[in-house]
Amino acid sequence: MFELSNLIRPNIRAMQPYSSARDEFQGEARVMLDANENSLGSAGPEQFNRYPDPQQRAVKAELAKLKGVEPSQIFLGNGSDEAIDLLVRLTCTPGQDRILILPPTYGMYEVAANLNDVRLERLPLTADFQLSDQAVAQILASDAKLVFVCSPNNPTGNLLHAAAVEQVLRGFRGLVVVDEAYADFAAAPSWTTRLAEFPNLVVLQTFSKAWGLAGLRLGMAFASPELIGYLNKIKPPYNISEATQQHALAALADAPHFEQMRQELLQGRQWLQQHLPGVDIVEHVFASDANFLLVRFRPDATAVYDYLLGKGIVVRNRTSQPGCAGTLRLTVGTPAENEQLVTALRDYSAV
Ligand code: PMP
Repeated sequence: MFELSNLIRPNIRAMQPYSSARDEFQGEARVMLDANENSLGSAGPEQFNRYPDPQQRAVKAELAKLKGVEPSQIFLGNGSDEAIDLLVRLTCTPGQDRILILPPTYGMYEVAANLNDVRLERLPLTADFQLSDQAVAQILASDAKLVFVCSPNNPTGNLLHAAAVEQVLRGFRGLVVVDEAYADFAAAPSWTTRLAEFPNLVVLQTFSKAWGLAGLRLGMAFASPELIGYLNKIKPPYNISEATQQHALAALADAPHFEQMRQELLQGRQWLQQHLPGVDIVEHVFASDANFLLVRFRPDATAVYDYLLGKGIVVRNRTSQPGCAGTLRLTVGTPAENEQLVTALRDYSAV
């Protein structure tokens, strides 16, 4: 049986969270002299003199409607990177506990483990970037506190087979954190639709990709109210700024713009998938359910990377990632940027 409280660090179970006077006050405050703010107003053009809602109630109410979950199942972080760090800190005692990752995958899981002095066990994906039966068996046998499952995976772009993820969810005794940063570009339902089935499931999403708000820094974690309660207990009290909350609400009210950009990026991905294979130096374009493509170049991906840099085109060199020899990761850009990229690659091929 999965028992969440067994996974929470004892000091965190015991501690009292920070509380402010406004947590206790219900109703409309007219004179707010509790938080050492500046009642006169703000420097700069906009008014931000008051601390933001620490529970981000308005944003969560809208998100809950959009995602089909309860507000109590939502945690908001300063990017999903904050949620990654807090999940590691919530479950792992430094110098003692362990997490699992499935390389090649997103780099911040390892950084969060190192930062928190938490051991890291790597269970590599197969050559086609899926969970092997052996890896699933190792996860189920492990006493690690948490496994990060990135799907669609960064940097490879593919979804992990749902059946394997489900096996992990059913059998692993730790938390299963499914990182869905790229879910809006994927042809599969989000794991948020399965939260009621799996008490050990945490789903991460972000406003940084399809919503086009990377500069805002707003990430989401969806899980049981009990787990979300623990994340709220350990987060910095005002981790989501007033500006971020206001912008997020405005974005959520503008769903047609979101949908239009999403469709355009999907078309851009398709355009690149059609045009990249015809370029001489392109050996393989991996299938993608994200807003980027992993591409294997011949004979020398790093030379291509340097050439593109010289042209002012920055892509991600993934040649040193396990299973990614010879690859660059190309983000889908505007139609003009996509064309520039393909033209530059053709020019390189012609040299
Ligand atoms: N998870 C994955 C898989 C990512 O690729 C990224 C961003 N590159 C993040 C999480 C972090 O996103 P955020 O901007 O929300 O911190």
